[in-house]
Amino acid sequence: MSAITSIDHWISGSRTAGASGRSAPVFDPATGQQTGAVALASAGEVDAAVKSAAAAAREWRTSSLSTRAAVLFAFRELLHAHTDELAAIITAEHGKVRSDAAGEVARGLENVEFATGIPALLKGGYSEQASTGVDVYSIRQPLGVVAGITPFNFPVMVPLWMCANAIACGNAFILKPSEKDPSAALRLAELWQQAGLPDGVFTVVQGDREAVESLLEHPDVAAVSFVGSTPIAKHIYERATAAGKRVQALGGAKNHALVLPDADLDLAADAIVSAAYGSAGERCMALSVAVAVGDVGDDLVSALAKRLPALRIGPGAEPGTDMGPLVTREHRDRVAGYVAEGADAGATVVSDGRTADVPADGFFLGTTLLDHVTPDMTVYRDEIFGPVLSVVRVATFEEGLALVNANPYANGTAIFTRDGGAARRFRSEVEVGMVGINVPIPVPVAYYSFGGWKDSLFGDTHMYGPEGVSFYTRGKVVTERWPDPATSSVDLGFPRTR
Ligand code: NAD
Repeated sequence: MSAITSIDHWISGSRTAGASGRSAPVFDPATGQQTGAVALASAGEVDAAVKSAAAAAREWRTSSLSTRAAVLFAFRELLHAHTDELAAIITAEHGKVRSDAAGEVARGLENVEFATGIPALLKGGYSEQASTGVDVYSIRQPLGVVAGITPFNFPVMVPLWMCANAIACGNAFILKPSEKDPSAALRLAELWQQAGLPDGVFTVVQGDREAVESLLEHPDVAAVSFVGSTPIAKHIYERATAAGKRVQALGGAKNHALVLPDADLDLAADAIVSAAYGSAGERCMALSVAVAVGDVGDDLVSALAKRLPALRIGPGAEPGTDMGPLVTREHRDRVAGYVAEGADAGATVVSDGRTADVPADGFFLGTTLLDHVTPDMTVYRDEIFGPVLSVVRVATFEEGLALVNANPYANGTAIFTRDGGAARRFRSEVEVGMVGINVPIPVPVAYYSFGGWKDSLFGDTHMYGPEGVSFYTRGKVVTERWPDPATSSVDLGFPRTR
């Protein structure tokens, strides 16, 4: 047994031990051993963190745009230099393979690069002579203290989706990471500090439901960004909006890939296998349903199945592995339970992850491929969030499109085809927030914004990019004139433009 590390909060620029007396175990999913104990904040500890952040926010909002950009540039360089180290921290607690973890850091870093452009992003509009002698202009100002509550599956990227813009806009940011893989947040805090960010502008409060509820209720938290499962996203949205806060709450997903009969099947199968089983299916943009249109079903299933034996499943830190373990034992067992339910409900089990040859220690599960899945089955209805790919067969493009549009989740989707007209119709008529055309994981680049529709997003602002800047600032419009006092008079009429 190796020593168990205490995983603390980060308040006022330093590691702060938990004082609540409560903690949660953190595991190495590749060995199944507990490696850490993360502090779980009480309401009192959250209050202390918010007070420190509020004091820092009052100063930080007055920092010049070039000062903020300089910190972001420095932070970007540090993230780049520490990519391997951050990837190792991610793998140790999440389990994903190193290359995947490094990819997560790289995609998060894009958001920092976007935020380095904050001087240009915060430019307002100006109308000279909107009325005679009157000029009108708009400015955007920070909100104060904003909170981010993040899921286990991207412990570096999702916090960066939020904090880069929030901080660049002049706010203080409080991160409540997932208690399953909380260490990366503390390393991010240290790198922010090294980049020159004043203490208190980036805070980490470790915790569970109690910490989250305290943030949602705290009067000095102006806005909440959430990413996680749909039931919690809905709860966060309702609770925090009722408390008068601005909220964006991104939820779960069930992403479909439509494969048309004219698609290049090898290309489609490569893409779908990569997007279904990458990160053991624990991605909100994972493709978990392949919709085979027309007579493509048998060939698609055999192309998918052919690729599975070559996937190397093992500890994420081991070079050459393609897929690591799931995040916890409970989650692994839950996913295996879905495979059993699919089989019982009549799906054809082409590949059974439960019987795969995987390391005995740790929370491993092999890859499952289910064919002839129907929309009434739980494997189709629920977000499984594991290495399980379902194939649904439909007769026509219209039937496939209707299937995607009937699903309550609407995060991402993809179409594989060589027919530009069909692809164009799909992207126009599909009711999903992020669409890939021959692209399996269409996570937008950082200068667009990320978000699904329907039960995949509560609130009306997508995350990061231009919508992130808008979310983390309030607009103000100034109407200004410098009249000659000699022309002044009382006029009780409603002011009109002249
Ligand atoms: P989760 O909803 O269990 O947890 C997310 C966060 O909420 C964590 O910080 C957790 O501590 C907190 N939380 C959990 N239960 C809570 C409760 N009852 N009250 C208050 N806070 C609570 O999600 P997860 O298992 O960590 O992450 C996986 C989920 O996140 C999947 O559903 C996945 O699709 C989703 N996700 C969505 C996106 C997206 O962009 N739409 C991105 C990544 C992950």
